[in-house]
Amino acid sequence: VIELENASRVYDGTPVLGPLSLAVEQGEALAVTGPSGSGKSTLLNLVAGLDKPTEGTVTVEGGRIDRLGEHALARYRRRRVGMVFQFFNLLDDLTVADNIGLPAQLAGMSKAKVKERTGDLMEALGIQRHARAYPGRLSGGERQRVAIARALINEPALLLADEPTGALDTASGHDVRELLIDLHRGGQTIIVVTHDPALAEAIATRTIHLVDGGIAVDRTVGGRR
Ligand code: ATP
Ligand code: MG
Repeated sequence: VIELENASRVYDGTPVLGPLSLAVEQGEALAVTGPSGSGKSTLLNLVAGLDKPTEGTVTVEGGRIDRLGEHALARYRRRRVGMVFQFFNLLDDLTVADNIGLPAQLAGMSKAKVKERTGDLMEALGIQRHARAYPGRLSGGERQRVAIARALINEPALLLADEPTGALDTASGHDVRELLIDLHRGGQTIIVVTHDPALAEAIATRTIHLVDGGIAVDRTVGGRR
C-alpha cells in the first residue's frame, strides 16, 4: 500500500534521509525506531504528505503522492491518512466531539453522519463521557485517545503515529498501546515512530531501525497476531 523508491530528503544541503526504498503492505504494523535525528519523523512526514522527497518517489495506494499538487495533496492528507502526534495537536477551543468530527466535516461528510461516526468512535475508544468537555480538562491518555479517534474519523488507509506514547505516563501509554494493537488486529495499516522498545515490540509486525537516515535493520516479527 506504501512504496518509497530511492526517496531522500535533504535540508539546506544536508541529507537527513535516504536515499531509501521501502514497501509496506496493507495490514502491516510497522515500527520505526532509531536515535534522535535519524530521520524517523522525516520518513513519516513523506508518507503523510506533509513533506516531499528531494529525490525519489512516494507511492500510496497506487498513486504518486510526491507529484500531487497542493489541492490534491490536502485531499490526500484529509481522507487517506490519519496522523497522531506526541503532543496530541488538539484544538483547545473545540469540544472533544468537535475535535473528532472536524476532519469529517472538512471532507464534506453530512452533519448526521459526522455525529454518528463521532459517537461510534468515542464509544469504541471509551471517551464518550467527555464528548462535551474541552481537551484542556482531559488527562494525557484521554487526549491521545481523542487524537486517535480524530485520526480515524475518515477511515484512513494509513494510521501514522509519531511518538504517540512519548508524552504519556506508563499507565496511559499502556492504554494507547493496547488501542493501537486492537486497531491493527482490526486490519488497520499502522506506522508508528517510537523511542519506546516496548511499544515497538508490542504492536509491530515489522521494525525498521534508522541510523543516519538509512535503514540499518529491517526485521519482520513472524507469528504475532
Ligand atoms: P527525534 O527522535 O528527535 O524526533 P527524528 O528521528 O524524528 O528525531 P527528524 O525529525 O526526522 O529526526 O530529523 C532528522 C534530521 O533532519 C535532524 O537533524 C533535523 O534537525 C533535520 N530536520 C528535520 N526537519 C527539518 C527542517 N524542517 N529543516 C531543517 N532541518 C530539519
Ligand atoms: Mg521525530
